[in-house]
Amino acid sequence: MSKLQRVFQFEVDKPLSQLSTFGIGGPARYFFEVQKVEDLQELMAYCHAQKLRYFILGKGSNSLFDDRGFDGLVILNKISFCHFEWPIVHVGAGYSFSLLGTQTARSGWSGLEFASGIPGTVGGAVYMNAGANGAETCETLFEVTFVNEKGELEVLRRDQIEFSYRMSSFQQRKGSIASAKFLLTPSDVARKDQLRILDYRMKTQPYGDKSAGCVFRNPKPHSAGALIQQCGLKGQKLGGAEVSLTHANFIVNRSGASAKEILKLTDFVKNMVKEKTGVELEMEIRCVPYQENELVSS
Ligand SMILES: Cc1cc2nc3c(=O)[nH]c(=O)nc-3n(C[C@H](O)[C@H](O)[C@H](O)COP(=O)(O)OP(=O)(O)OC[C@H]3O[C@@H](n4cnc5c(N)ncnc54)[C@H](O)[C@@H]3O)c2cc1C
Repeated sequence: MSKLQRVFQFEVDKPLSQLSTFGIGGPARYFFEVQKVEDLQELMAYCHAQKLRYFILGKGSNSLFDDRGFDGLVILNKISFCHFEWPIVHVGAGYSFSLLGTQTARSGWSGLEFASGIPGTVGGAVYMNAGANGAETCETLFEVTFVNEKGELEVLRRDQIEFSYRMSSFQQRKGSIASAKFLLTPSDVARKDQLRILDYRMKTQPYGDKSAGCVFRNPKPHSAGALIQQCGLKGQKLGGAEVSLTHANFIVNRSGASAKEILKLTDFVKNMVKEKTGVELEMEIRCVPYQENELVSS
């Protein structure tokens, strides 16, 4: 047993395909599931001291792992408490964002109806500033508890964090979101709106398929999906990867696709859209390289 395994009892060679909604990815060299904030603090301090490369994972619903896996430690954030202190709700970063959207709306509170059906964690939603139906995570966010790279706790108010379209300042920092507080407003129609949003999502997105959500950011004022569809690329296949027939901005793992195939198809779509419409598409999915500073490419 290595020193690393003795201290934290890391699992070795954990298949990442089981931990991503794409169902793609080789093994993580080391793997650890964290359930308590104190453990996350110790782990961050340990990685910092040992200069150990790590990746914080939520539900893996916006991540594409490399076919070779990850040459470092993957930390699955499973801090999953949920405390309702209306109008505030305080949730662990590993809590289901979709469930949170359903529970708050069902209790008559508005602000997170759009989360219903987004298959990620609260940590992933804050990190990505996830959004749908004209709403974004940052709009009802009140405060975030963050464990920095040295293992110290930072409590950040909403105005101490930068957000823009699918961006947060956490994307420029090492460390992990531990929990978040949201400030909601009472509403008689929250539940009705949440059910309508979920119903629309189920009809317009490939829910039964393996994907990581929208591949490309919307190049305002355009919609990436509309541009891809306009170029006749729905149903385009490359190996086991396919541009979804349900929603053109989703690439799905139809049958045992590799990360290489997903990226090749992504490049193909990008090039075709550029050629036919002049619009440059930008990836929204987070590609996780096998080794540090490696370029992710097909
Ligand atoms: C069918 C489907 C529909 C989707 N619909 C939407 C949608 O409507 N709107 C939308 O915005 N997205 C959508 N997505 C994408 C995805 O669900 C969101 O981006 C979600 O917020 C990602 O959360 P996650 O926990 O899965 O993140 P992961 O994929 O696990 O991680 C994504 C990034 O966040 C980082 N991260 C995760 N947790 C933490 C943490 N605790 N601390 C620090 N960093 C962290 C990771 O390191 C990684 O860089 C969809 C995906 C699918 C598969």
